[in-house]
Order: sequence, then C-alpha cells, then structure tokens
Amino acid sequence: MLNRLFQVLALASLATAADPNYEQLFRPFVSPETEIATFSEADFAEVASPRWSTWHAPTFQAAIKPVYEADIQSIVRIAARNHIPFLATLNGHGGNDNYGRVQNALNINLGHFNSVTVDPVHNKLTVGGGVTFGEIAEPLAKAGKEIQTGNAVCVGMVGATIGGGIGTLQGIHGLVLDSLLSVTMVDAKGDMVIASKTVNPDLFWAIRGAGANFGIITSATYQIHDQTNDGNVIIANYPFPVSASRSAWEFVQSYDENIPAPLVLIPSIRYNHTTEEVILQVSVIYYGPMADAQPYLDQVEALNPISSTVETVTQQELKAIFSEGACDRGNRHNVYTVGIKKTDPDTMEEALQEMTEFFETHPTYNGSLAIQRYGSQAMLAVPDEETSYPWREINAYVLFDNIYTDPALDADVDDLSRSLRTKFEATSGFKDPQIYLNYAHGDEPLNQVYGASKLPKLRALKKLWDPQHLFGAGYPIDY
Ligand SMILES: Cc1cc2nc3c(=O)[nH]c(=O)nc-3n(C[C@H](O)[C@H](O)[C@H](O)COP(=O)(O)OP(=O)(O)OC[C@H]3O[C@@H](n4cnc5c(N)ncnc54)[C@H](O)[C@@H]3O)c2cc1C
Repeated sequence: MLNRLFQVLALASLATAADPNYEQLFRPFVSPETEIATFSEADFAEVASPRWSTWHAPTFQAAIKPVYEADIQSIVRIAARNHIPFLATLNGHGGNDNYGRVQNALNINLGHFNSVTVDPVHNKLTVGGGVTFGEIAEPLAKAGKEIQTGNAVCVGMVGATIGGGIGTLQGIHGLVLDSLLSVTMVDAKGDMVIASKTVNPDLFWAIRGAGANFGIITSATYQIHDQTNDGNVIIANYPFPVSASRSAWEFVQSYDENIPAPLVLIPSIRYNHTTEEVILQVSVIYYGPMADAQPYLDQVEALNPISSTVETVTQQELKAIFSEGACDRGNRHNVYTVGIKKTDPDTMEEALQEMTEFFETHPTYNGSLAIQRYGSQAMLAVPDEETSYPWREINAYVLFDNIYTDPALDADVDDLSRSLRTKFEATSGFKDPQIYLNYAHGDEPLNQVYGASKLPKLRALKKLWDPQHLFGAGYPIDY
C-alpha cells in the first residue's frame, strides 16, 4: 500500500524521462543513506559503479547507490513509472557491445550489497548481490570451505553466476550457477521475490543462465564444500619457444576427450613489446598434492619448455595471480570468445601466426589469446534441462582478450578477432557456434548465446516477469 502511494506520488511529482530531477524524484522514497548524484555533480564517480573498460561503455545521467532492499524496490518502481532506463552494476565488468547502447540511463550501484555469511554446518554461503569473488575468499578459507568461482577477484559473484560462472574449480564442482540454491530479488514490479528449485522454479531456471534479464538479485545462497587439498593448489607455468608451439597444442589436444577433474590447462599467446617476442605459455593448475600433479607436470617438462615455475599456493593466492593486470581499469578492453569441444593444432598455429603479425604491426596492442580447459565432469552431471544455461558440452573456452588504449585500433582489433573467431568456430567440434554469455562480444546471434532450445521458454518467462524490458540491457532476450 505504502509502495503504491510512493508510485502515485512519484508520478505526480515530476519530471519527464528526458530530463528528470533525480534527487526530487527518488529522494523521498529511499533511505537517507542512499546516495544520489547526477553526472555533472562532483561526487558522481563515487556514487556510480566503477567501469572496467572504456570501450563502448554505457553512459549515465545519474547514479544511485541504494543501501536496503526497499531502496531498490522504490528505485525500480519509480524508474519504471517514469520511463527512466537503468542498469544495476557492481564493478562494471559486463563489457560486451550491448552495454554501449545503454545511453543516458540511471546507474544503480550495488556496492552496498556486500554481505558475506558462511554457514559451515549446513555448507551454505549467503552473499549480497554486490559481492566480488575476492570478498568471499577469506571468510570461506577461514571456515575451511570452498566454492567454484570465476578466476579474478574483482568480478561480481552474482553478476558472473547468472551468466554461468566458469573457473579453475569447475572440474571438481561445476559451473558457479550449479551451486546456486536460492536468490532473493527485486522484480519488474518492484516486489521482493524468492526463486529456488521449489519456489518460483521457472524463474530460478531462467536466472541460472540469463539472470540479468529478470530482476535485481539482492542476495544469493550457494552450496559450499570442504576445501580440496586443504586449500592448496599447484600452479606451473611453462613458456615455450615458438618453434615448439605445435607440441604444446598437441599436448592440450591429448586431453580433449578426458581431463581429470582437478586438472586445468591454459595455453596462451601474448607478446613482450620490450623484447619484441611472442610469449607462448602453457599453464597447468592442479587441485591436489604435488605427487598427484607430478605425472602431468612431467608430460609438459618432456616437451622441452624454455623454463618452468612450479609453485604451491593457496586458493586466494591463485586468484591474486589471475587478477594481476586483468582487473586493471581504464583500458579499451573487449573480448571475443568461442566455446570448443576439440583443440585443433592447425587453428592454433594459424592464430599464432596472425597474432604475431598483429603484435609486430601494432606496438600498443597488449591483447592475448587464452584457452581455458576445465574439467567437464561436474558440469555434465547436471541435466541440461535443469537450467537455462545452454552450453554444458563446451570443453574449453577460447578467449580473445583485447587490451589497448587507442580507439584508432578498434577496426584492426575487430578484424583480427573476427578472423580468429571464425577459424576457431569452424574447428570447434560443434556444428553451430556455442558462445559463453559472460565472454560474449555482443555481436553474436541470440541462438549462439542463449541456445535455440532455451530461447522459447526464456522469452515466455521474460514476457511474464519483465514485459517492459526493464532488465537485461547487457544481452537482452527479445520476444
Ligand atoms: C577481469 C575479468 C575477469 C573475468 N573472469 C571471469 C571468469 O573467470 N569466469 C567467468 O565466468 N566470467 C569471468 N568474467 C566475465 C564476468 O563473469 C562477466 O563480465 C559478468 O557479467 C561480470 O559481472 P559483474 O557483476 O562483475 O559486472 P557488472 O557489469 O557489474 O554486471 C554485469 C551484468 O550482470 C548484471 N548484474 C550484476 N549484479 C547483479 C545482481 N545482483 N542482480 C542482477 N543482475 C546483476 C548487471 O546488470 C549486468 O547486466 C570476467 C570478466 C572480467 C572483466
């Protein structure tokens, strides 16, 4: 009743969508601690979510940083009534092309929704909708527990979960979304809604794969596990001479059919602009004792890499290693991706050649190509129909990670990435391209991202839960 009154008051009080007075419109209906700033105000940068990439970034007329669930309810209702487009974000890592189409919107900064509660007795973790993977690491380690996560500390846990959530513990525990037990969210009407396997199960199905399209999740509860190998992980890096590239790709290929759950392989191609040399590296990660990892490390050693570093680190330290540079803001950062079932050494060789030429002719380009080969056992143990996430048969995620600052490089970077993407798609082992949503570039057909078999139900649920298309500008499901 009170909320209804708020809506009427909000409507009556003000402003056109083209030039709303945000303070006047929202202030009476949010908590005093909620910060509001328009783009021209000095504190805008503190109120708005930070943005990871400068490439095709959304633009915001104003930002609002709510503190309580009721604040988000009011914000959604008032924005909807006044036709103000909005985007709820945390650290702004959602970077595909669609975000650049969000113009003059209202940013809802989820930064205050950062609670983390570990329940070691029932093996549950409950987080606020604005918690990063980095923020859960210490409380979990202290409790002797773990959960599968993405690899970088800066990424939003919920933001990543609702598109899939892939990472180095995937072989053992599966996709991050497979550990999700329930969410509490604000829907398009501004109502608080719970979704789980037993409450609003269809909505819960949709959230696990296309979640950004259905509401703003204020808290999420996950299944957690006892730490593997007391929380210790082995990470080994092997740089290879370019002349030995083929044997490196064939080694990775030998694990196409089967890879042990604790093993992760990440071959990558980068460039050292100081020495003007291509860096070709195979990283091996193993969740287990050194004795168990040794046979795999020996296999790589036998290929005569240039050198090797083998370390035992904690899971937290592993994340810190992965986050180095990756979390840096301010670059013109964009990604392309292909999901593959097969490693094709010829395609890898072509990529190496094309990238070498590109590195040499574009001295300010700092991009890389990495293939993330995680075990599929746990992911495949979940039936396909259980979630809207469509691509459980992907064995490895090819990631073209473009990093540069000069917009003049845009066209050349696109040409290179598209050329490589086409080649990897052709030899992926799949008939049609399978694109991991959280790594998508934004130019892919919806079928390739959400899956043709999932889209009809997703569209029907979208119509039911968000007929005004308030949510999901990052990769909209249309109907
Ligand atoms: C450096 C880096 C490393 C990455 N590493 C991995 C990785 O290892 N594994 C992996 O799977 N992905 C990874 N990603 C991709 C990442 O999962 C996606 O970019 C994801 O969308 C980021 O979510 P965010 O909340 O951090 O970003 P944001 O830009 O804040 O949000 C992204 C989208 O999610 C929505 N969203 C965020 N929070 C909520 C919420 N509480 N309720 C509803 N919607 C919400 C937003 O509205 C937006 O549409 C990485 C990305 C970057 C930039």
